[in-house]
Amino acid sequence: MKFWKHYYQGLLDLFLQSQCPLCQRPTSTDFCTYCEKQLKRCQIAQPEKFWGNDFPLFPWGTYNGSLKRALQVLKYDKQPKIAQPLGFWLGESWLKSRLNLGKNLIVVPIPLHPNKLQIRGFNQAELLAASFSQIANLRLEKSGLERISDTEALHGKSAIERRESLTGAFQIGKAFRQRHPKAEVLLLDDIYTTGYTALEAADTLGKSDIKVCGIVAIATSEIRATQARTK
Ligand SMILES: [Zn+2]
Repeated sequence: MKFWKHYYQGLLDLFLQSQCPLCQRPTSTDFCTYCEKQLKRCQIAQPEKFWGNDFPLFPWGTYNGSLKRALQVLKYDKQPKIAQPLGFWLGESWLKSRLNLGKNLIVVPIPLHPNKLQIRGFNQAELLAASFSQIANLRLEKSGLERISDTEALHGKSAIERRESLTGAFQIGKAFRQRHPKAEVLLLDDIYTTGYTALEAADTLGKSDIKVCGIVAIATSEIRATQARTK
């Protein structure tokens, strides 16, 4: 009897196990133990330090190592399931922080242009926002913003070129056109680097008298993380 119990349990474990999206080792959790440990090493200890910089930012981790790879696998290897644990961790970190911004915030993900959305099949920021807002217990508005210009990759462009290419990239989304939100907006993106995307999104909403309190992101560049540490 004991043998059969073990036999069936073994079969069940095998059935329930899937591959770790980062290293393909079998795992019954979102990432294998090794990759989860590597990812957690990228976590920023005091993310609230970034709040109140040139643009209030709340990041989960630093964009390097395993976290960089996880975000690349999510987007370019099209592994949308990675968004759930990452959004969850960001939500946990938000709840633990002492920012105390209350519950009256609307989470709006940075949108993709429809062309890019068609190619990728999903907007990673929207998936991360769904997981984040569930844990942080905040309202989610997926259609608060729309992207109207299909900006090319920003790598290798100067700061001025980056800022210029984003000018007019967004318009206020259908949901907010229909009903003006009373609460402040909290933007969400997968990566925060120069902050130009967040600024442009906030400007677009600001023109319609919608206030943006800041942005939450899974990762921020190493330079920003170092700057916050030395403050
Ligand atoms: Zn792994």
